[in-house]
Amino acid sequence: MNKKTLRDVDLKGKRVVMRVDFNVPIKEGSIKDDTRIKGALPSIRHVLDNGGSLVLMSHLGRPKGKGYEAEFSLKPVAEYLANLLGRPVVFAPDCANADADVAALQPGGIVMLENTRFYKAEDGKVKPAEGMSDEELKAKKAELKAKREELAKKLASYGDIYCNDAFGTAHRAHASTAVICKFVKESVAGFLMEKEIEYLGNAVEKPTRPFVAILGGAKVSDKLAVVKNLLDKVDTLIIGGGMAYTFLKAQGHDVGNSLCEQDQLDYARDMIEKAKANGKQFLLPVDNVAADKFDAEANTQIVGNDIPAGWMALDIGPKTTELYAAAIKGAKTVVWNGPMGCFEMKKFAGGTTGVCQAVAESGAVSIIGGGDSVSAVNKSGLADKMTHISTGGGASLEFLEGKELPGVAALSDK
Ligand code: AMP
Repeated sequence: MNKKTLRDVDLKGKRVVMRVDFNVPIKEGSIKDDTRIKGALPSIRHVLDNGGSLVLMSHLGRPKGKGYEAEFSLKPVAEYLANLLGRPVVFAPDCANADADVAALQPGGIVMLENTRFYKAEDGKVKPAEGMSDEELKAKKAELKAKREELAKKLASYGDIYCNDAFGTAHRAHASTAVICKFVKESVAGFLMEKEIEYLGNAVEKPTRPFVAILGGAKVSDKLAVVKNLLDKVDTLIIGGGMAYTFLKAQGHDVGNSLCEQDQLDYARDMIEKAKANGKQFLLPVDNVAADKFDAEANTQIVGNDIPAGWMALDIGPKTTELYAAAIKGAKTVVWNGPMGCFEMKKFAGGTTGVCQAVAESGAVSIIGGGDSVSAVNKSGLADKMTHISTGGGASLEFLEGKELPGVAALSDK
């Protein structure tokens, strides 16, 4: 990686402002999944063990940005972290007014700031209100941008070094994820961030071949840029999930009531042709699990690529699963984003489970790109067979699109 990391800076006696991703599920004050908190521990421990102190900040959920909202408070997370580390974590209840707590920090000490998204200035986004003129919108945008800079400057003032270990929000140019870098001398990546970028970056830019990418999920339009970017790099592209039916329709099939984006048919056709012209294998379903309604108890039948009228395809069929598994078997690098069907319902989970098993058994370097594919892998109990499971759905998708992530771009170069 061409960006500085925590290993490249002297931490002794330094205060590190660290952006972590502690956006964890909390129910009635108790943390339901601590994966993200544990994911940040190597960076946290490294700073503390090397004589530094820490100011931690994160967002949690999607508060309105108008101040404190109890359900989005990070207080339970601060308490949980203190237990995990076996040392006190001072909780600062207002992220932009924490000077006293920060000034009292000693080497080895930790202050955790309240949710940065209690300030609208964190994302600095403007939603155009009804009846707002272009001029008014422009003025509002400028106002919020200035506030975002102000908040970033305040957060930067808490430390000597900024560290970003929150890959999950690296695709956002927020005050705490990117803008802050303008106001600190050194901005470095944490270890989790470094790991994400190295795994995803190596898989996409320097894959051991054959390189197979598997794309699924609901919408083609969400993954247009990913298909386009990966098509140049892979040997085989496998398409499943709801997005497959736009491709099948583009080939002249009847797709019944399956998901289909009419406005993407030309694009789908272009992609199929581009793959052919470049000698890439482009795999689409050959059979499907069709349902008479979108329901866990629906009647189902296995059909070919013409879905009967009134039916909808909710999973790839057994022959397709076999075909995809065979392609995955020969792979040396696999990147997977998006389920092959509506895996949340048992009747439509077969394709996703089959693909998951094939990836696990392939022996390939396997990168699971966040979001629903991660839930599917966890559900199948095969998570420990994967090389890397990304912690950031949106961020990993933008990475696979070939986009530069603002939270990474803003870090100091090596
Ligand atoms: P995404 O967020 O785009 O990765 O989409 C994930 C969602 O796509 C999951 O909730 C799946 O249930 C859904 N999905 C997958 N296959 C299909 C399908 N054939 N029809 C409708 N939805 C699907």
